[in-house]
Amino acid sequence: MRIGIDLDDVIADLVPELIKFLNDLYKADLEFKEIKSWEIWKYGNLTEKEFKEGTKKFIEEGGYSRLPVIKGAVEGVNRLKELGEVYIVTRRSIKRRAETISWLRDKKIKYDGIYFSNNGPKTHIFEDINPNLIIDDSPSSAKDLLWFGGFFLYDKPWNKHVKIEKNRRVKSWKDILKKVEEREDLIAKIQLKSIK
Ligand SMILES: [Mg+2]
Repeated sequence: MRIGIDLDDVIADLVPELIKFLNDLYKADLEFKEIKSWEIWKYGNLTEKEFKEGTKKFIEEGGYSRLPVIKGAVEGVNRLKELGEVYIVTRRSIKRRAETISWLRDKKIKYDGIYFSNNGPKTHIFEDINPNLIIDDSPSSAKDLLWFGGFFLYDKPWNKHVKIEKNRRVKSWKDILKKVEEREDLIAKIQLKSIK
């Protein structure tokens, strides 16, 4: 079994740390549960320009290195690694490769490969990996890959509008492992690119 996993807000807890930083910088009043899309500036007292500059500052000041892990993610990813091959697929810039890899090492997260889409869509990378299972929180990945039965959407305020079967919307790593272990045989049979 091959598994493709997004990094930010699935393994690394990015948005809570980023909005804390933006709130300190701009007195922006952003609240996690109110963030209904990736146009984060719309949900607080800051402009799009400030959001973009603030995010850049957060990243350049080593924000990624300071991120906590999502609860259960270390055990969860390492358990999936026992079931198959784990590929981490992130939108992060390739310039952040070194700090990303050392963060994963520090957190003792095991994986077989990591891909950077360099701020672009991740769909083509997922297609190349041809996984049996994908775990992502991104509404744009969901839009492209919803038809694929092995796509699990990690529940977040910004993807509540995505219409997906209840058993493919996952609420925690505990929930992911439960759903994977229940349907392991089924998941192992499906692939993103069906063999022609
Ligand atoms: Mg993400």
